[in-house]
Amino acid sequence: MKIGVINKWKDIPAIIVNEEVYRKFKVAVIRNGNNRFPACIVTSKHPDILARLDDNEILVTPKILEIAQISDPLDLSDKLNIEFFSQGLFVYGTLLSSYITPDGDIHRGWGGLEKYPKIRGICSPYALYYHGLPYMIQENNSESGVIGEIYLGVNANIERKIDNIELSANYKITRTKAKIIENFPLIRKIDVKLYEYNGKPIGIALRTMLFEEAYVVNKKMTYFQHDRFFSVLKGNSSIIITAPHGGYYCPLKMLSVENAESDEETYVLSREIITEIYWMSNQQLIPSAVLAKIHRSRVDLNSAIDYYNRRIAKEYHRIIENMGSKQAEILIDIHGMSAKEKYDIELGTNYGATVKNREDLLEEFRENLKKEGFSVVVDRKYTGGFTVRHHSQKDLIAIQIEINKRLRMPWNYKETAKRIAKAIWKITSI
Ligand SMILES: [Zn+2]
Repeated sequence: MKIGVINKWKDIPAIIVNEEVYRKFKVAVIRNGNNRFPACIVTSKHPDILARLDDNEILVTPKILEIAQISDPLDLSDKLNIEFFSQGLFVYGTLLSSYITPDGDIHRGWGGLEKYPKIRGICSPYALYYHGLPYMIQENNSESGVIGEIYLGVNANIERKIDNIELSANYKITRTKAKIIENFPLIRKIDVKLYEYNGKPIGIALRTMLFEEAYVVNKKMTYFQHDRFFSVLKGNSSIIITAPHGGYYCPLKMLSVENAESDEETYVLSREIITEIYWMSNQQLIPSAVLAKIHRSRVDLNSAIDYYNRRIAKEYHRIIENMGSKQAEILIDIHGMSAKEKYDIELGTNYGATVKNREDLLEEFRENLKKEGFSVVVDRKYTGGFTVRHHSQKDLIAIQIEINKRLRMPWNYKETAKRIAKAIWKITSI
């Protein structure tokens, strides 16, 4: 296998192959040293790419090297081990790596699958029911769909072991397709094997038991909803988290309109902030969230021009508007700035206009961030874009937060999210 680097898509992790290989395989898993991560397979015919490749030739984007922490791009075939997959084992409920029951209890999966690479997927037209043990049945309703994990390359012995347990508990083996719902540049369907219940549905219907796809308060589950363009969570608290530039989705038929890079890792960082706040509140508060999956080169969700001219941008802001309730709401709009910037964090409020008469709250937020060890400036260079200006026109208090790239690397964004979540959490009670 010949592995080269393509000098495009610096901000997007992807494996480029020729059209034939692309049709055969749906997802790649990359290993180097202790690193192991899944990546989207993209055709060399993608209008952004347009490269000529043989069957044994692969191009990786510079972002892949960043994640794998490879600084020297020579002899990549020795440094990167790339496996291709077209099928996987779709699991839900107790087989998940980390699952949540409707009571809010978090458990670790029991299936011995932890050493396998995994991606998240949605299987339709299936519905999930919980009645002591979770089970899945086929539904006619096309709106249904179960979110689960797809394990890749599962060893035959483990698979046989799981088969035996499931078959003896009145489940049958079904082969179908699951849509990959990761923040990938293309949306693809992968062949999966899953366990379907033979009996009639009883108990409560759920969309997922996968922890971090759902949050439980007083035995009520709140889910992330994923569509092609956005991931949306309608929470129960006064906090709204938005991230317009963290998406990687570059559909084949939606051409690039602007040569703009994404705010890398802000999609996952925002999700991490939400989970942290949920835990800090003793599993009582769920922030609302609207996170973009569409790449900034297709539409700029933080631009006034796109808001007035593009249907997707209008929809994005309509969803944010509908998140508001009567209680005092704080919107935190999450962005990423370059590593060349001196400061860790810049807060943008259009010189105080987007926080209106709540300068005390802004000051408190800045102090909290400093206590977490960040160097912080306010309204110096990034003074707040369309999102905070537009949504602060009504009751909302809106703050833009630019996070330095140094703090959003694949290996440290979780830690950064934890510190930012603490700073947000402390201002919500003011
Ligand atoms: Zn941005």
